[in-house]
Amino acid sequence: MLFADVCAACGKNGVSPCRACAARLSPPPNLPLPEHLDHLVALFAYEAVGMSIVRALKYRNQRCALRWLSRHMAEHVAGHKPEIVTWVPASRSGTTRRGFDTGELLARRIAHELHVPVRALLRRTGGEMQSVRSRVDRQSGPSLAANAGTRSLRLRSVLLVDDVSTTGASLSAAALALRTCGFRTVTGVVAARTPLGATG
Ligand SMILES: [Zn+2]
Repeated sequence: MLFADVCAACGKNGVSPCRACAARLSPPPNLPLPEHLDHLVALFAYEAVGMSIVRALKYRNQRCALRWLSRHMAEHVAGHKPEIVTWVPASRSGTTRRGFDTGELLARRIAHELHVPVRALLRRTGGEMQSVRSRVDRQSGPSLAANAGTRSLRLRSVLLVDDVSTTGASLSAAALALRTCGFRTVTGVVAARTPLGATG
């Protein structure tokens, strides 16, 4: 192996997360379903080990974490098999800085696992980066709109992917934009949800 993977949480050589760290993940917090979604699946809470795994993907583009997350996210939504997969687009500033959109990376791999097409159905219409805004400020969510051609796909069910959901406002805004294009069933899947009262 040319590049040894290390566990994003403990630094041990091998897969990320290692089996011990995966076992230490906290279950996702029991929070209300964000508006306009039919279901929302989260793998774990965005804290401790869970935060390390997501950050390894988000800020270091750790492919091992990407494989692990997308495989488990796909398994959890296999019962809601959609006609198409899309993602909540990251702000342009965040994507430019990192060189990739984590939601897109996850969506493409999840779609591959589910044998379902994947497409960019949404775009940001506002400017400000979500992760630098205060939590209160984020309740309103980003401004999202459907891309041209989304309605003419005439599809009914979609899987909406994001890395982390904090208030659920981004997922709500995305789901609403998809519903206005004719989607009847919007299932969300995120790697992690932030426990109430935490920051992140
Ligand atoms: Zn570990």
